[in-house]
Amino acid sequence: MKDTAKHQGLRNQLISVLKEKGITDVAVLDAIHKIPRHLFLNSSFEDYAYQDKAFPIGAGQTISQPYTVAFQSQLLEVKKDHKVLEIGTGSGYQTAVLCGIGAKVYTIERQNELFKSTSLLLPKLGIRPKHISFGDGYKGLPNYAPFDSIIVTAGAPFIPKPLMAQLKIGGRLVIPLGEDHQIMTLLIRKNETQFEKHEFGEFRFVPLLENKN
Ligand code: SAH
Repeated sequence: MKDTAKHQGLRNQLISVLKEKGITDVAVLDAIHKIPRHLFLNSSFEDYAYQDKAFPIGAGQTISQPYTVAFQSQLLEVKKDHKVLEIGTGSGYQTAVLCGIGAKVYTIERQNELFKSTSLLLPKLGIRPKHISFGDGYKGLPNYAPFDSIIVTAGAPFIPKPLMAQLKIGGRLVIPLGEDHQIMTLLIRKNETQFEKHEFGEFRFVPLLENKN
């Protein structure tokens, strides 16, 4: 598992692409600049790891496109030491970017195969989320709530109520909403009962599935 000058050069180019596409948050760009995305992919995709594309990661899932990771991370407005809940650990790349910004990350994955492989990979890369959980993201992590922000990295047919309940007042929930394509949606919790909703255009994600266990 190597990170070479060639990879760093490709990351510089990726950062330029993300800036051209409108990403401005310096903490997000710095984190993407330092995380070796090629080590989160099967080695057969190594040459493509810094293209702004999604790729298969096994178990029928994908690693999100860098622009999508950057866009969602920027909407979260993550600050150092924020408690962030991620639904859909997948490859662990988005987890790594959030850790790279300095967040305390709690992440949930429902596919056992991915949960196991990513739980092993992250510490090998020196990336230490606070908690990696195997389970159903629709339920969130009530034992660790409340969170400064929550990011859902799969397309959700509706906003799960437990996630709204686990958000701090002033907290931000970023969730792609819809079945075959998704509208990126930001909810900001105003008080106990009120949430402000903002929408940010169309994206495509694998579906957020309910646990059949
Ligand atoms: N953040 C990931 C994106 C992976 S794709 C990355 O950067 O690679 C979305 C992930 O959500 C998949 O791994 C999928 O298995 C997971 N997922 C789908 N439904 C889920 C649920 N109900 N709870 C937790 N994870 C879920």
